[in-house]
Amino acid sequence: MCGIIGYVGHRPAAEILINGLRRLEYRGYDSAGIALIDNGRLNILKNAGKVNLLAERMRASWNAELLNRATLGIAHTRWATHGPPTEVNAHPHTDQTGRLALVHNGIIENYASLRRQLEGRGHKFLSQTDTEVLAHLIGEFYKGDLVDAVCAALKHVEGTYGIACVSADLPGAMVVARKGSPLLIGVGENETIVASDVSAIISHTRQVIYLDDNDVALVTAAGAEIRDINNISVSRAVASVDWEESAAEKGGFAHFMLKEIFEQPDALQNTMRGRLDEEMGSAFLAGLQFTPREMAGIRRVVILACGTSMHAGMVGRYFFEELADLPTEVEQAAEFRYRNPLIGGHDLVIAISQSGETADTLAAVREAIQKGALVVSLCNVVGSTIARETGRGVYLHAGPEIGVASTKAFTSQLLVLLMMALKFGRSRRLSREEGLEICREVRSVPGLVRETLKQNDAIAALAARYAKARDFFYIGRGLLYPVALEGALKLKEISYIHAEGYHAAELKHGPIALLDENVPVLALACDVPGKDKTFSNIQECRARQAPVLSVVTDGDPSLPEMLTDIIRVPPSSPRLTPITVVVALQLFAYHVARIRGCPIDQPKNLAKSVTVE
Ligand code: GLU
Repeated sequence: MCGIIGYVGHRPAAEILINGLRRLEYRGYDSAGIALIDNGRLNILKNAGKVNLLAERMRASWNAELLNRATLGIAHTRWATHGPPTEVNAHPHTDQTGRLALVHNGIIENYASLRRQLEGRGHKFLSQTDTEVLAHLIGEFYKGDLVDAVCAALKHVEGTYGIACVSADLPGAMVVARKGSPLLIGVGENETIVASDVSAIISHTRQVIYLDDNDVALVTAAGAEIRDINNISVSRAVASVDWEESAAEKGGFAHFMLKEIFEQPDALQNTMRGRLDEEMGSAFLAGLQFTPREMAGIRRVVILACGTSMHAGMVGRYFFEELADLPTEVEQAAEFRYRNPLIGGHDLVIAISQSGETADTLAAVREAIQKGALVVSLCNVVGSTIARETGRGVYLHAGPEIGVASTKAFTSQLLVLLMMALKFGRSRRLSREEGLEICREVRSVPGLVRETLKQNDAIAALAARYAKARDFFYIGRGLLYPVALEGALKLKEISYIHAEGYHAAELKHGPIALLDENVPVLALACDVPGKDKTFSNIQECRARQAPVLSVVTDGDPSLPEMLTDIIRVPPSSPRLTPITVVVALQLFAYHVARIRGCPIDQPKNLAKSVTVE
């Protein structure tokens, strides 16, 4: 999920690799490392933390001769998925001989069984990563031809990878491969640079080859020979990149937020990868190991979170009550921690925090642990404090989220909550058939989001009509009530328009007094239970001259004619509607903020991870 760079050519590799890592720094990462091949020797340095620290250590530990002479190397910034972000888990990883080094982005799903097999054959592992297993596997197949060895090893691998591999026995060449993770090759004058992201390449060359899934390439200073996984030659076109360097950092998107909105189909795919139990109609969530006795003893679920994560929890409440028959409460974490809450051994507490560092959620977690509750976490950042202190939990695997306004982490949180509720549901009341139906629903989510993203242009056009508003109301009910809150939060965070999310039924208990032709209402009127009542609420708003923008289900035959401004989301089970609707609302907020000229990725007064109370 993070950054790879590799260099082979005529210039000193070290400097180019470190600068490349700096270009990849924006992606967010937790550790970094570098390997240089020189005079038949492999030299490796790695550390937890910043690229600058790695650069300093490199200058202190490696002599100038090595730094100036080595013209082949690979480097990596890691975003930990398997094992905490420590020096030993940082990449590059070596094989059992210590002469072959590998950097990897992605997840080797069957690493545990591969590791057991390799251990059975005498391999010793130093790290907890899935990547080290792949390094050993390639090493085992290496008999003098690195391309052969990589092809052979990758045939045993399930999962995703972008890899670059060097060997002390192979001067002047590296082998790279990809499946599911990006990797491209920049072809320069007597030098070749590989990277996971074009931003690390374009200061050297604009001629690039984008590898396809299952491509394996032998990369030398003269260019790249590309093969398929059976080591048969394939040809790939060389493209010319015309991006400005600054745009390339964002992969061609104007803002990280937009990039992350569009990453959601892939992020959701990563979130569910390897987690659906299609045999039993349940979910494998390795971090939720409960004894049957613990499971049977749970009487209530309490979700603790703040901000966007709390809105995810409010949707999750529907999942737990409906699928697992578990009474569920959602608590603002700061409110919980200062209230001397009634909580104990029969309660399952789920703490949700993208960063895993949210101060109020962390304090609430400590209070719940103190009171004897079973506490699990749902975080995006591996090794974060909340993840470590709860000990049990589920990672989102949504990839680094840079934009301050959370987007892909929210939809991944919803998907994990659905899979958690499925797992608990199967241990309580759900039949296998019902479980299988939910597995099918989960699998359909990336496609539904892709479909929703096609509305981008239509939503941008609508945003232009509403961008001058000073106030906004968002209304929804049922599963879409929390989504109304989240949509309003997105709008205020990045466009600075005053926006309030309300339950659609609540509007007439006061806020309706504020409606007039200058106060638009965004109504979530998709095909979920309660839709007809929301249609009536829309009528009430229109009767007060408020402009109404409605989000509806595409093809819904019951849409009243009075709806004029409409955003359409694809039909789906009501459970999945919060995901499609929120994607539309993210786009709407984004375009309004863009039209208003707001600094979308760094909104004023906000920070990405809220580590203070
Ligand atoms: N799964 C690998 C690890 O945890 C790679 C993570 C990444 O993509 O940075 O080390």
